[in-house]
Amino acid sequence: MMAEVSAIEWCDSTFNPWIGCTKISSACDNCYAETLMDKRYGRVEWGPHGARIRTSPANWALPRRWQRQADAFQKEHGRRQRVFCASLADVFDNQAPEGAREDLWALIRECPDLDWLLLTKRPQNIAKMLPAFWGDVRRSVWLGISTENQEELERRSRAVRDVFAERFYPAVLFASAEPLLSPLDLRKSALTFDWIIAGGESGSGARPMSIQWVRELRDQCAEAGVAFLFKQWGEWAPPARFIPSGKPGRFAFGDYDFDRTTMHQVDAYPRQIDLFGARSRMERVGKKAAGRNLDGQTHDGFPTGAA
Ligand code: SF4
Repeated sequence: MMAEVSAIEWCDSTFNPWIGCTKISSACDNCYAETLMDKRYGRVEWGPHGARIRTSPANWALPRRWQRQADAFQKEHGRRQRVFCASLADVFDNQAPEGAREDLWALIRECPDLDWLLLTKRPQNIAKMLPAFWGDVRRSVWLGISTENQEELERRSRAVRDVFAERFYPAVLFASAEPLLSPLDLRKSALTFDWIIAGGESGSGARPMSIQWVRELRDQCAEAGVAFLFKQWGEWAPPARFIPSGKPGRFAFGDYDFDRTTMHQVDAYPRQIDLFGARSRMERVGKKAAGRNLDGQTHDGFPTGAA
């Protein structure tokens, strides 16, 4: 996949060594990659019987180019380029195309001036899939686990801790609570994270996320000194009337201002949901209108990472 400039808020670029995966947890129910690559384009068959497809040599050449341009990127941005790997697969999938993961590790070693963000739902596989030269590449790796609910937070954080208790840790440990499907208590995690990303689900079957779950995560991160990035509300957002915009006759809704006419369109959505009483009521308004504003602020925290 060509993705020199990523639309994902928390990275600069995406790199997919291969495409394809199998759904393994509730966060996967509305997998965006499956919707796009299997259902819409028919490029890959999702699931345990589908073959993962390695991406083209031209795609594999991209990170090498980014590595050659790393000095210029650093000068322009004052930090290293963040490469999300992979948005359409899971790096620790045990059905990866033969040799592809080994080639990926070699590529990471060849590109030490990029930050490689590896996000997985399969941390139980990490131990047997790390390269012998992990010590050479770990400073370029930001390792993340998906933590859509408390059970997965605890299970996946234990798996990562068990791997790295006897090895060197990666440069950054992070958790992606997206889609966030329940409240999270970070104190029960087996890991101390450097960074938490949270977000609600988008797409036609999107499930709502309570505003209280996001607030609690924000507050826990602030208390623990953990960088916090709130990516998006997704399809569902708190009702506009709870967020006065300060402009007469208008309502602020996330990043988006509505006039009264637009509010009528919002009201035309029949779906409202009460997750925990009126203070947590969420309305279906669509991802764009919902924006990424939480209690009047955006949250764009990032960990320090490698120098
Ligand atoms: S792990 Fe990720 S890519 Fe794989 S099915 Fe789940 S959501 Fe989709």
